Amino acid sequence: MKVNTNYQNISDSYLFSTIAKKVNEFAAKNPDKKIIRLGIGDVTLPLCKVVVNALKSASEEMGVKETFRGYGPEQGYDFLREKVQAYYKSHNVSLDIDEIFISDGAKSDLGNILDLFAVDNTVLVPDPVYPVYVDTNTMAGRKIVYIDANASNNFLPLPDESMKVDIIYLCSPNNPTGAVYNKEQLKKWVDYANKNKAVILFDAAYECFITDENLPRSIYEIEGAKTCAIEFCSLSKMAGFTGTRCGYTVVPKALENGLLNKMWLRRQTTKFNGVPYIVQKGAEAVFTSEGQTEIQENLNYYKENAKIISQTLEKHNIWHIGGKHSPYIWLKCPNNMSSWEFFDYLLSNVQIVGTPGSGFGKNGEGYFRLTSFGSRENTIEAMKRLDDFLK
Ligand code: PLP
Repeated sequence: MKVNTNYQNISDSYLFSTIAKKVNEFAAKNPDKKIIRLGIGDVTLPLCKVVVNALKSASEEMGVKETFRGYGPEQGYDFLREKVQAYYKSHNVSLDIDEIFISDGAKSDLGNILDLFAVDNTVLVPDPVYPVYVDTNTMAGRKIVYIDANASNNFLPLPDESMKVDIIYLCSPNNPTGAVYNKEQLKKWVDYANKNKAVILFDAAYECFITDENLPRSIYEIEGAKTCAIEFCSLSKMAGFTGTRCGYTVVPKALENGLLNKMWLRRQTTKFNGVPYIVQKGAEAVFTSEGQTEIQENLNYYKENAKIISQTLEKHNIWHIGGKHSPYIWLKCPNNMSSWEFFDYLLSNVQIVGTPGSGFGKNGEGYFRLTSFGSRENTIEAMKRLDDFLK
């Protein structure tokens, strides 16, 4: 046998292991100091009640002969697909039920979708970026080119006609920068993709953080997107499903005259056996009106944390974006410190842990990511420490 040597081209990610090592070393030398982690990308609030009740009653159903379920439809139960369809309708996007595929989260589908595309496509990835886009394409041996996201374009790069690319990754609201494309900007990407016969892989994992009606939560709010875009969504950040696992992917039938929708169905029915019934019942509860109210309370909690962080940075004139429609706050390290210098500075002076921007790509150097997923108490305490220190 021969191994897939493309794996040798994946760069080892030392980001989170280096963070852990530095934090552990600091903690060992300073056992009396309380470290506050504002670098986490995972949610901390529990599942909401209506979801837990749905999970419990679905579990009960599984223990009764008459209501027990075995293999389900690979693309998801209709009860959940209909809820997702109605959710899209609430932001004026009409989808057919067979354009919606229930998955175990956005990460798997972002990787798996590449089965549909030939290896000799050129992939465009914004820098800085969620590392999964780069690594999954590197594993397959595709050529990757980068587009710069930086302060001069507010971390929202736009296409230019000289680019020759086939597969385009966009993530809005963005991880790590929190930047959000408006409709005019997304329209430029949609027009580019349609004109150049490219496909946009639109990662909308953080759409639920958008509260401004004018900002698009789905790429399908943009005219022409159904002929060029696949959208990936997740209940992870929306409803605290990071450990429960559920998401959905939209593959419109207008894409390549239905070919990609058909291929994705074939791929999923061949390589995937569906999300557990119990989990899909929990996910269904998220889309009920009670569920929406309860998850909104949690989202508001994170948003308030983001506001507390933003206000402190503003007070000290630290340039930053994000936070408003995203759990991520992306800041420019003060005094031209590098990302890792600022990491050490925060850890040693105020015992706050964040994520160095350089870990997300070359344009992240000199920037830093804080998240609003911590507890309110910790967020307040961390910002008080920073405020006192910078006074
Ligand atoms: N896309 C982005 C941009 C993310 O940041 C994450 C998780 O952090 C995911 C996708 C993965 O989400 P899921 O938990 O649904 O796999």
